Amino acid sequence: MAKIMQCDCGTVVRGETDNELVAKVREHAREVHEMEIAREQVLAMAQQE
Ligand SMILES: [Zn+2]
Repeated sequence: MAKIMQCDCGTVVRGETDNELVAKVREHAREVHEMEIAREQVLAMAQQE
């Protein structure tokens, strides 16, 4: 089932799988916020679409 995560900046990241969501969120965090985020943190903040 797809999951989404809304970043503090308002960007909504969507992934078809946990792995895809985590990869996209981590990429967003690195590029936009220069921040490293753990897989567990991403999944804790994610919501079922
Ligand atoms: Zn953001």
